[in-house]
Amino acid sequence: MLEDQIFCPTCGEDTDHALVKSGQENLVRCENCGTVHSVQKKRERLVNLRVIVNQDRRSQSYFIKIPAQDVLHVGDELLVDDGVQDVVMTEIASIETDRRVEVAAAEEAKTVWARATDEVPLKISVYHSGVTHSLKTMVQGDEMVEVGETRELQGYKFRVVKIKLRSEGFADAAEAKDIVRVWGREI
Ligand SMILES: [Zn+2]
Repeated sequence: MLEDQIFCPTCGEDTDHALVKSGQENLVRCENCGTVHSVQKKRERLVNLRVIVNQDRRSQSYFIKIPAQDVLHVGDELLVDDGVQDVVMTEIASIETDRRVEVAAAEEAKTVWARATDEVPLKISVYHSGVTHSLKTMVQGDEMVEVGETRELQGYKFRVVKIKLRSEGFADAAEAKDIVRVWGREI
């Protein structure tokens, strides 16, 4: 059994996993439900980054966990998710270490100023021939996702079968910004 719990796309939560095959991406099996899926191998040290997000002329302060070695550039997109407030997609407007810089590693940055944009990441697990593929795409935050609808993404055509919300529970339909993960079955 692997040391740390891993997110299982079928169970919808962190569970114990066994390693099936090691590679650039590890293939793992959920000990709960038996789903086999791939996960990123690299585990990175995280730092707490202070981000001040400007949205509709208001500023909101967030602390997000981000890999220490991630390089931040002014103008880059940055996903701000502190696990508490709404997730917001932003564009980096300014970076401060001990002075203002254009580029810095996350661990050097003291504060990042960012401007909210309307896009959010949508995570989708597509079940295909016994394997679950994890996909990710950027969509408008108010885009509706509904159980039963057909979508195409990164070469997969699938029907939405389950939608998990950021707040507890599942829904038949929700706006992308309120969704943690969508499950699809390839068709
Ligand atoms: Zn599972």
